[in-house]
Amino acid sequence: LLGYIGIDTIIEQMRKKTMKTGFDFNIMIVGHSGLGKSTLVNTLFKSQVSRRSTGWSRDDKIPRTVEIKSVAHVIEEGGVKMKLTVIDTPGFGDQINNENCWEPISKYINEQYEKFLKEEVNIARKKRIPDTRVHCCLYFISPTGHSLRQLDLEFMKHLSRVVNIIPVIAKSDTLTPEEKNEFKQRVRKELEICGIEFYPQREFDEDIEDKSDNDKIRDAMPFAVVGSDKEYQVNGKRVLGRKTPWGVVEVENPNHCEFAQLRDFLIRSHLQDLKEVTHNIHYETYRAKRLNANGG
Ligand code: GDP
Ligand code: MG
Repeated sequence: LLGYIGIDTIIEQMRKKTMKTGFDFNIMIVGHSGLGKSTLVNTLFKSQVSRRSTGWSRDDKIPRTVEIKSVAHVIEEGGVKMKLTVIDTPGFGDQINNENCWEPISKYINEQYEKFLKEEVNIARKKRIPDTRVHCCLYFISPTGHSLRQLDLEFMKHLSRVVNIIPVIAKSDTLTPEEKNEFKQRVRKELEICGIEFYPQREFDEDIEDKSDNDKIRDAMPFAVVGSDKEYQVNGKRVLGRKTPWGVVEVENPNHCEFAQLRDFLIRSHLQDLKEVTHNIHYETYRAKRLNANGG
């Protein structure tokens, strides 16, 4: 017998490597204008994502195209650096004719796959390929309390094959708790009827434990969020919130909305899985198609 092999040291090696190189995590936000997308970008960066960590710095804003903008922060915690980029896509579905309006977004996503592929096949490739691939796409649903629009369904149907789609209900402070719960249920039902798989996709549950964890999350989706970049004093603490004549809606209070749940799901519990599904499923599908098109 071999005795001590030292597999446990691999964890330490992986940790050291991640500490040295850091990692990228990219979130895209899509939806009608006025639904609070830009506000949510600020909410994410102003909320505990950055408050809990030290030494984060603001990167330059990188305008990719006239329409799609991204904001990046390097967040450091426990010696590990994460470059969190949020890609804001103004004006989705604002045209009179919205036919194929998902195309610029799917084009952007594919361009990032292409960039990564070029680096991968490059002989003298970089030790670490900068990863601009979209790891998840938050799709903002209008808080109508009615049903999804045709456009919502079309977008999610097309894009769920190329990226991890996470539907969220925007401006959920405009719904009462009952309306919110009914609406969430209806949205899930409609997505199911249309055969639209959002993240975490059932087919990628790895075992029973995975399935039961993810079932809970799927039953809680779409997360009903509230965004704000303003702070108010509540019970002697400064909180991010929206001040109304009836009180402050606290963005990070789980009794007020599901922003904190969404953030923890993205940045804590499912970050690595979002990256893995992006790499192993969505990117791999793109790569296989591209290499086949080139004659193998
Ligand atoms: P975008 O066009 O999707 O980027 O939307 P904006 O972030 O520019 O927000 C549009 C308007 O909605 C602004 O007046 C925001 O203050 C407001 N808003 C943003 N988030 C919320 C929210 O969660 N609830 C409510 N009631 N209003 C919001
Ligand atoms: Mg905006």
